[in-house]
This record gives sequence, C-alpha cells and structure tokens, in this order.
Amino acid sequence: MPNDTNSSNAKTAIVIGSGFGGLAAAIRLQAQGFSTTILEQRDKPGGRAYVYHEDGFTFDAGPTVITVPQCLEELFALAGKKMSDYIELLEVQPFYRLFWEDGTVFNYSNKEDDLLAQIGKRNPADVKGYQDYLTYAEKVYVEGYEKLGQVPFLRFWDMVKATPQLVKLNAQRSVYSTISRYIKDDKTRQALSFNSLLIGGNPFEISSVYTLIHPLEKKFGVHFPKGGTHALIRAMVKVFEDIGGSIRCSCPAERIVTHEGQAIGVRAAGEFLPAKVVISNADVHHTYNNLLQDEPLVKRTTKAMNKKDYSMSLFVIYFGANKRFDNLSHHNIMFGERYKGLLNDIFKTGELSDDFSVYLHAPSETDASLAPEGHYAYYALAPVPNLKISDVNWEEEAPRYCERILTYLEDHYMPGLKESIVIKKCFSPLDFVTELNAVHGAAFSLTPTLRQSAYFRVHNRDDNIKGLYFVGAGTHPGAGIPGVVGSAKATCSVIELDYA
Ligand SMILES: Cc1cc2nc3c(=O)[nH]c(=O)nc-3n(C[C@H](O)[C@H](O)[C@H](O)COP(=O)(O)OP(=O)(O)OC[C@H]3O[C@@H](n4cnc5c(N)ncnc54)[C@H](O)[C@@H]3O)c2cc1C
Repeated sequence: MPNDTNSSNAKTAIVIGSGFGGLAAAIRLQAQGFSTTILEQRDKPGGRAYVYHEDGFTFDAGPTVITVPQCLEELFALAGKKMSDYIELLEVQPFYRLFWEDGTVFNYSNKEDDLLAQIGKRNPADVKGYQDYLTYAEKVYVEGYEKLGQVPFLRFWDMVKATPQLVKLNAQRSVYSTISRYIKDDKTRQALSFNSLLIGGNPFEISSVYTLIHPLEKKFGVHFPKGGTHALIRAMVKVFEDIGGSIRCSCPAERIVTHEGQAIGVRAAGEFLPAKVVISNADVHHTYNNLLQDEPLVKRTTKAMNKKDYSMSLFVIYFGANKRFDNLSHHNIMFGERYKGLLNDIFKTGELSDDFSVYLHAPSETDASLAPEGHYAYYALAPVPNLKISDVNWEEEAPRYCERILTYLEDHYMPGLKESIVIKKCFSPLDFVTELNAVHGAAFSLTPTLRQSAYFRVHNRDDNIKGLYFVGAGTHPGAGIPGVVGSAKATCSVIELDYA
C-alpha cells in the first residue's frame, strides 16, 4: 500500500475530467468503495462527447459510433444496475456509407453476404482475400483487444511478455500494408482501413494491431444512443450519482497537490480538495505541464511529452437544415481524390490541403427527436493537421474552410445544401485547445504508433507520484470509446491492488 500521508481521507478519490474514460473510472471507483468526486472544467460533462442544444437541434459534439456496448453495460452492472433502464441503444445499419467522387457507393456493415457481394463486384479475387484478411484480423482481435486491451503495461517486463504475440501478428507492419497483402482493389483497401482514423491513427503508419477494429465492429455492431451520444453520458452520470458519487461542473482543476511524492488532493476553484487517489482524465500533456508544473519529480516526464507525436486535429461543422438528403445514411464517409497523399499532409507535412475527406454525421436518419419537425441535424468533420506540425491561423481560416467544405458537399453529394441550412457552428483545432485543454489541438491525444503504445504510452499509474493515475485517450490502450473505457478498467484494477 502506498505511503499513507493523509489518513484522514482514506478511500476518497478525485477524477479530473468527465470524458467517457473519466466517467467509467469514477463509476468503477465508487463501486469499489471510494467516495468519488469528478471535477469538470466545462459546464456539462462528456469531454469530447459534449453536446450543443440550439434552436431545437441536438448536436453531439464528438463520438457518434458506439461499438462494444458490453464494455458500457459492465459499468452499470458493477453499480448493480441495468444499462437498459438508463439508456436505449439503437442499431445502425449500414455501419457507414462510403462515397467517392466518381459516384462509387459502398455500404460497409457486418452483413457478410452483402459485404462480399460489394467487394466481389469491385474485384472477384478480393472475396477470398477478404476472407483471409478477416481470419487474420480476428486473431489480432483476440490477442490485441481481448488479452491486452484492458490490462495495464506498468513495467517493461509486461511489454516483453506480450512481445511474442505482437511479433506473431506482425505488429510492425501498418494497417494499410497489411490490408494490401490481402486486398487488391484501391477503394476496398480504403473501406477497410479508414477506421484507424477514428482512434487518431494514420492507417499508413499505425500498427496492424489496429486491424482489430474491423472484427470488433463486426462482432458488436454499431450503435447510437436514443437521444444522442450525450444521452449516454447523462446516463453514466446518473448511475454514478445513484451509487453516491458526485460531480462538479464548471470546476477546473488548477493543481494536483502533492506532498513528499504523494498526490494528496486537488486545488480547484481556490479550494483544496483532499483525496487519497487522484485520477487525471484531462489531456496527459496538460496534466504534466499545467496541473503538475511545480512538481520536480515529473520534470523529465513533462519534457519528454514535448517530444511525443500527437494525433491529427479535426475541423467540425455542426449544422441544422430544413432538407433531408435521401442518398445519405446515418454515418457517411466522403473520400477525396487522394488517400495516402492527403493523410501525409495531415499527419506529416502539416499542410492544409486544397482537397479533403469528410465524415458526415446524419443522426436524424436514426432519431428524429434530434431536430425540430421538418428539420435535420448534421455534422461534417474533416481531419486536419494538429497545431504542433502546422501553423494555420484558424481564427482567419475557419470561416473560409467551413465554406469550402459546405461547397464541396453541396457540389458532390448534397444539392441545395447551403440554402437549406438554418443554423451552423464550427469547432476548429484552436477550440480543442481552449475548450478541452487538448495540447496542440490533438483530437485523439498521442498518436497510437507502436513507439507510443502499451508500455510506451503514458502509464495508467504515474511512475513517480504515488496515488496519481491516468485514464483516457493518452494512456493505455488509447482513444475511442472502447479504448478509454478499457483504460478505466486497467487503471482501476491497479488502484484496487494498490489499496487492497
Ligand atoms: C469529433 C470527434 C469524433 C469522434 N468520434 C468517435 C466515434 O464515433 N467513436 C469513438 O469510439 N470515438 C470517437 N472519438 C474519440 C473519442 O471521442 C475520444 O477518444 C474519447 O471520448 C476521449 O475520452 P477521454 O476519456 O479521453 O476524455 P475527453 O473526452 O478528452 O475528456 C477529458 C475531460 O477533461 C476535462 N478537463 C481538461 N482539463 C481539465 C481541468 N484542468 N480540470 C477539470 N477538467 C478538465 C475536459 O474538459 C474534458 O471534459 C471522436 C473524437 C472526436 C473529437
């Protein structure tokens, strides 16, 4: 058990931040017997899964593709509750509708016959290639998600033990090069590899371990909470409060307070709040740089954070329209002309390209309650370089970029779009910094490259400060809802052992 410098606050915990990871950790800790308080700087919980309610529209700010509902159900079960009593999850089909500028449309789903028919139509040889790829990816899923996805990598030895599996899976190869070994058609390669972007990784660079996303989606489906993703966040807050936890919004943590190498609480809103355990769900770089800026024990770690590679940022336009576009599905991906070149600009050169690829969220296709009658809610999202590698002045660029994306959508896929828009708002890389304390405006924290995964990612428990833990996209296993909810499981398993 860690050095007990603060025996008056036994079994109290503070979680800084209320993203999916922070909420999952808080529910687990409260269920483990810790009296747990969440401090959230924004006026509403959810982090990237924030929500805007405007003029009768509901715009979920971030995550919209909910996979592995079982990892969420587990949290409610730990609290002695049933998730279905709190929130209804609706199935989404197809998972994604993919569009290319030449008119090609591809419905990506777990309906195997349909998928094989579409793949075979593009290149008959790829049917067998896909089946072989699936066999490979399913093995990766078992090793990478089931065995390693929810366990902490605190010691180098933990990594060494996992290395044979990773070598067996050819984890040094990229997602795209792995897919290309099985699939010949360019568009099918794109269809099977773009989902790496959902966790902030460039498919040409991140480890083939992330091919596990395909079988994961196939097995668990794609879901959408009735009322939107934020309804799920509210359900998580409710179950947390129902078992005695408390949350304070509009309450930014200013410092993690330490005493002789032990976290003893948090200073927030000018108050010292004591705690036995402090978990940061805030951006990992922000945590070291700002919340621990007076702490000599983390100087080296803080310096190392500056050298890390950060994920891409995003430019998002939330808009409401008085027109439905019946070619669209709930989740739509519009691929631009270039794939590798565009990703190279986004992840490497830092150039804001003239072309783009867009994810278009059309949630009214599943849930009419998200817009006033006769209206439809949307968001369009384009991956853009983060602020570490690019010097775009987003204050000036944002209105231009917004106009360019809307024009592109109107010209290619949504005729009459611009005159149908009744409300719109944009979120740029700068907003990731100011609204979420996301250093460099990185939308998914550190990139999930092999050099920054498992033991090489920020550890679930800090190496130098006792009682300090991390949860969320910057720690193991990484970004995405199943990832950050898995990180809460890994982190809380360590806390359970530390405070047994
Ligand atoms: C636009 C977008 C779309 C996405 N789509 C999907 C998707 O469809 N499916 C999917 O699985 N994933 C998706 N992701 C990724 C996923 O949303 C994130 O990886 C995940 O939600 C991050 O959760 P987190 O626990 O790391 O916390 P975050 O959501 O990053 O929350 C951290 C919280 O900490 C708070 N905070 C920061 N500093 C302080 C402080 N000093 N004091 C108090 N609070 C503080 C912040 O305000 C924030 O609320 C998407 C991400 C984005 C941005």
